[in-house]
Amino acid sequence: ILIAMIAGVLVGRLLSFGVSENEDITINLIIFTLSLKDFLVEGLFNIGGEIFITSLKMLVVPLVFVSLVCGTCSLNDSAKIGRLGIKSIVLYLITTAIAITLALTIAIFVSPGEGTSLPTDANFASKTAPGFADVIIGMFPPNPIDAMAKGNMLQIIVFSILFGIAMALAGKPGQRLASVFNDLNDVVMKMVGILMSLAPYGVFCLMAKLFTYIELSEVLKLGKYFFTVLIVLFAHALITYPLILKLLARLNPIIFFKKMKDTLMFAFSTASSNATMPITLNTVTQKLGAGNSVASFTVPLGATINMDGTAIMQGVATVFIAQVYGIDLAFSDYVAVLLTATLASVGTAGVPGVGLILLAMVFQQVGLPVEGIALILGVDRLLDMTRTAVNVTGDATVSCVVARSEKALDEEVFKSNN
Ligand code: ASP
Repeated sequence: ILIAMIAGVLVGRLLSFGVSENEDITINLIIFTLSLKDFLVEGLFNIGGEIFITSLKMLVVPLVFVSLVCGTCSLNDSAKIGRLGIKSIVLYLITTAIAITLALTIAIFVSPGEGTSLPTDANFASKTAPGFADVIIGMFPPNPIDAMAKGNMLQIIVFSILFGIAMALAGKPGQRLASVFNDLNDVVMKMVGILMSLAPYGVFCLMAKLFTYIELSEVLKLGKYFFTVLIVLFAHALITYPLILKLLARLNPIIFFKKMKDTLMFAFSTASSNATMPITLNTVTQKLGAGNSVASFTVPLGATINMDGTAIMQGVATVFIAQVYGIDLAFSDYVAVLLTATLASVGTAGVPGVGLILLAMVFQQVGLPVEGIALILGVDRLLDMTRTAVNVTGDATVSCVVARSEKALDEEVFKSNN
């Protein structure tokens, strides 16, 4: 997958060179080169990449439903389900709060916005953050089929848990159904496995297309902002998560990262923690040894409510835009950023670019000009890919910690070479 990724980036960069009509080549050659480029980028790579991402997304709803029903009915204890839920939500919120605090602190120290000029044609539309009550009420599906059709993850999670509990309580019919669901789970996991074996081709296509169009000159213009976000993302991934793994679960972070390698590349190339979720669940259960009863709950939940990487971008972007516009933020504003960024991510699925929509909510909350977001649009895709990898690392970290605390982590599997 790594080779495919690098090859994709190189091919994309190569194809990004335009064909200049002033060059001393015949018109036929120009037309041939242009149409070959179109054929490759808009044809081959576009189709390959889109089919790959769509196939990943296709598995998300069946996988969450089937594996969560299996997980819940095997827990067989509603107190345990409640404990699991509280532990995961608290850990997810705490890691996000750490992420954004780290981002705000480093950004205030680095001052990425000083010396950047104001945008002249800034334009970015915003949405308002949903209220807390709306988020909670919205978790309950009036129609589970509609929730599945729309891919509303929190609603699917709530329905699957209730269905699983009812199965555990239903005696014989519940047991019969449980064996069907267990078989279904194996089959869906097999589909994930098949897709993983095709991953290098998919990743190659995605990267080749993306890097044909990406404007690397934008990165240089916004270098200070771009690299500040990157540094905080790496610091969080390489310091906070290993510490959590070590201190809360006594697990070796090096083994953890070795096993997460492929999943992180998926996250990076798709820029979507939702689309990566089937792979995350596969890795967390098969390679890291977390029991399905825990992981089937923590991984989909994390893909929806946990976005540490996104929170980091929001922290740095807030400081950056405030400095560009010369607006002084008070301590209370930073607290508001922390709360809004943490809560806004709950209920927003991890899909490409959603971080910017969340950022608009944060800006509105603290009174920063929302159109300032246009300033950072140019470099957002690359940051989106990196922060998605961090988001997914967070989901897997919390899943391992919760599984460990529930005595549902198989250390043999964790340490093994698979
Ligand atoms: N793309 C990110 C994810 O899927 C969300 C974001 O930051 O835009 O986790």
